[in-house]
Amino acid sequence: AAWEREVRRSATPRRDGGMSVLVTGAAGFVGAHCALALRARGDGVLGLDNFNAYYDPALKRARQRLLASRDVVVLGADINDAALLERLFAAVPFTHVLHLAAQAGVRYAMRAPQAYVASNVAGLVGVFEAAARHADPQPAIVWASSSSVYGLNTDAPFSEDHRTDRPASLYAATKKAGEAIAHAYNHIYGLSITGLRFFTVYGPWGRPDMAYFSFAHSIVAGKPITLFRAADGTDVRRDFTYIDDVVQGCLGALDTAGKSTGSKSGKKRGPAPLRVYNLGNTSPVPVTRMVTILEKLLGKKANKRVVTMPSNGDVPFTHANVSHAARDFGYHPTTSLDAGLRQFVQWFLKYYKIDPAKLAKGGKVSASAGKT
Ligand code: NAD
Repeated sequence: AAWEREVRRSATPRRDGGMSVLVTGAAGFVGAHCALALRARGDGVLGLDNFNAYYDPALKRARQRLLASRDVVVLGADINDAALLERLFAAVPFTHVLHLAAQAGVRYAMRAPQAYVASNVAGLVGVFEAAARHADPQPAIVWASSSSVYGLNTDAPFSEDHRTDRPASLYAATKKAGEAIAHAYNHIYGLSITGLRFFTVYGPWGRPDMAYFSFAHSIVAGKPITLFRAADGTDVRRDFTYIDDVVQGCLGALDTAGKSTGSKSGKKRGPAPLRVYNLGNTSPVPVTRMVTILEKLLGKKANKRVVTMPSNGDVPFTHANVSHAARDFGYHPTTSLDAGLRQFVQWFLKYYKIDPAKLAKGGKVSASAGKT
């Protein structure tokens, strides 16, 4: 009963007409930011996360504390716990689910393939199953697919109707499978499902396994970094997308998710929507340029090694066409890589208690794990 009171309180909207959102992966990078933004505008938010050790769990705990300070509860639970999800949907009438819990990362899939199947396929089914069959009313689902579904596609910019049948990694394959599973749940149970294909999201409270973050660590520590050149000799490019822009896209998708595409006039409602959108920045940047910006912001040169990209799941470039998201919920990314990395570096130095003055002098710096 105490458990139910706690989750209900967290999920109760603070404004008239506010949403009640279950955010899975809420101790993660994108999940924590979305949960904060939803709460800031008065929506009810309950977070869920299994706090796995894919990357530093202390960072996930720090995000959880930040959310707790804004009155958002993050339950420690796994999306594969069917009984827990059933109990949760019985206790709280969620209007929406923002499903972001997943095994992320492209290269780790070569070391732990089953982790991807467990969270991104079995876990996704667990969330859809609970929402479709154990919630009344059914919540609208918004979930994270990935730009990686475009795989070896080369006709850029990528539009949602481009082919996605050539994944270059198991990670991409599980996201592609998720889109097929979404189709089935929408078809059978009339579940409203919106998939979002994120393009290399970066920013404060980011993911230490991603290049911009691990490069910042290496530059500070004076360790070498390895940059990839595509097999044809060109620079690897990424459509880096700032977290605040992605958060705007997620909230926009949630706001339109419940709405039927059917006729507005009569009682007749169209079929439950099944949608997929790119959320990118629309301007790919060479990874070498990203490193140059980091060097400038940190005031210290990187020790670079450039090698030809091995066949480890990475793709040579990504580039989003976001016209569908712009049309349907006004998604317009506004943050340049320069401005976004400035925000990231500010946060990074503070979180890891790194003195920028010492960095500039070229002295030896020891980064202590942040306990903010
Ligand atoms: P993240 O790893 O920081 O967040 C995911 C969170 O989910 C983590 O806190 C993890 O502990 C949790 N989690 C994992 N498996 C779980 C399970 N079985 N049960 C409960 N919780 C579990 O990653 P992120 O960057 O915030 O990514 C969010 C979503 O967006 C993921 O689905 C990811 O695949 C997708 N995505 C991210 C990017 C990006 O650039 N960050 C790009 C494309 C897609």
